[in-house]
Amino acid sequence: LQATAVVSMQQCRYFLIMTQFRIAIVPVTPFQQNCALVYDETSKRGAVVDPGGDVASILEAITKTGVTIEKILITHGHIDHAGGAAELREKLGVLIEGPHKDDDFLLQSLPKTGAQYGMLDARVVTPDRWLSEGDKVEVADFSFRVIEAPGHSPGSVVLFNEVQRFAFMGDVLFKGSIGRTDLRGGNHAQLISSIKTKILPLGDDVVFLPGHGAASRIGDERDSNPYLVD
Ligand SMILES: [Zn+2]
Ligand SMILES: [Zn+2]
Repeated sequence: LQATAVVSMQQCRYFLIMTQFRIAIVPVTPFQQNCALVYDETSKRGAVVDPGGDVASILEAITKTGVTIEKILITHGHIDHAGGAAELREKLGVLIEGPHKDDDFLLQSLPKTGAQYGMLDARVVTPDRWLSEGDKVEVADFSFRVIEAPGHSPGSVVLFNEVQRFAFMGDVLFKGSIGRTDLRGGNHAQLISSIKTKILPLGDDVVFLPGHGAASRIGDERDSNPYLVD
């Protein structure tokens, strides 16, 4: 019995060494959006999440970390999250997954929006795969479940890794705040409903990276976020 215990401990340690979940943040665009490289430190395989712009900085981070990028993920269609995706796809030769197709109208108007914000490199994005509730997104040996969370934009998705207890939140929920709902397709009541019925139930221990600012824990937001405290 003891021998078996030792073996399983070793297997457990082996597993931990074999997959090491890492996130590197690259703030991009004048909105300082949290573009992220998510990767396995051991295999050095990973993905880029929300390449809103400043593609040169993203490429520099990829070189610095030595990660082989397998795909690009997009949480929603706003320019600070998706504006650089088409250019990065071309440079890396990978596919784009996400967001939900309800954000197609935002992705198609990126050059126009870019002109308004002085982000002249923004291009139209047509994803290779639209994401829907319950879909799985694989990055290296990590698996993310897709959660549709409309309200900030109609096609916003949250990417949740159950094992790592971690989520890419997009602009749905922030540390101490929530996504703005005054942009095209925004809906405040829908956003609050998305957060309360789909995000909070993920668990208080879940750490999330929002599209802007610091990471937080779902339990902290449940307790103290002024938009969620009744
Ligand atoms: Zn946004
Ligand atoms: Zn944003």
